Amino acid sequence: MLTNRHIVVMGGDARQIEVINKLTALDAHLSLVGFDQLERNFSGASKVNMDEIDPKYVDSIILPVSGTDHEGNVETTFSNEKINLSKDWLADTPEHCTIYSGITTPHLTNIAKETKRQVVKLFARDDVAIYNSIPTVEGTLMMVIQNTDITIHDANVIVLGLGRTGMSVARAFHALGAHVKVGTRNPQQIARAIEMGVKAFYLKDLEKEVVDNEICINTIPALVLTSKVLSNMPANSFIIDLASLPGGTDFRYAKKRGIKAMITPGLPGMVAPKTAGQIIANVLAELLLNQFSKEGES
Ligand code: NAP
Repeated sequence: MLTNRHIVVMGGDARQIEVINKLTALDAHLSLVGFDQLERNFSGASKVNMDEIDPKYVDSIILPVSGTDHEGNVETTFSNEKINLSKDWLADTPEHCTIYSGITTPHLTNIAKETKRQVVKLFARDDVAIYNSIPTVEGTLMMVIQNTDITIHDANVIVLGLGRTGMSVARAFHALGAHVKVGTRNPQQIARAIEMGVKAFYLKDLEKEVVDNEICINTIPALVLTSKVLSNMPANSFIIDLASLPGGTDFRYAKKRGIKAMITPGLPGMVAPKTAGQIIANVLAELLLNQFSKEGES
């Protein structure tokens, strides 16, 4: 249980509701910052401003998936107030205070380093990324259906990258009867694609592989769909770029060529906030219970 542990939940979207539910069920004492417009109340949790919290008594801080921006500001869907995690505030927390975030940003990494606080990146974990690929695939299917006038069945689909997300995407489109080709730089991933029953090619051949493409799904967080590649792709193709911002597509050139290309961050939170929230909540609960049981031993 998390009895007597003071956890500050700073900002976020509907996914944080699952986190709050889980942690209050474990008897944590929660301070919710950036939730003033959320109508629901939770027993064991109070909605407060940052200046009402004494950092000396904070055991853990939970940030949204995006962490902070370059000034320490934290996104929230449930408030118009500006929420900021400052270095000075963090420095006043106890040494054991740990920050949990989806990803880290240069600012967050810096203030944590300077104050000697630990940042745990939930989305760097394989289990979280693999669970999260499930709602990501469903969101991708939704976007493809909404933005094309062809069936997925029998469509020529290129999936770029065969990591945790790319593998789930390739498998789902293959199962729906698409002609899936996976592009990767990695020989193990070529072998895995072939084992899965889809075609595979090396990224160096991308320019010639796109000539008959109808739907292209990018999961590589680097510029791979360059103007040179796009100039070989049929203009009626649809590109969905799942990679983290700024994505892997030359969007300016795609627009010029008349190719519909979309970048779609945060699909799990958009299509399945409850499931996506439960994925985060379960892992967080495990990590917090571990953090406090270790502190109890030391
Ligand atoms: P991952 O497991 O690390 O897979 C990334 C893939 O990209 C691997 O095949 C990797 O190949 C390849 N890759 C990385 N850098 C490359 C480069 N410079 N050149 C060529 N290939 C490169 O990551 P993931 O968990 O699948 O996530 C992929 C991306 O999707 C991330 O940016 C993530 O933030 C994003 N994402 C977005 C959503 C959304 O809602 N839009 C949801 C989930 C994930 P190697 O193994 O050879 O490095």
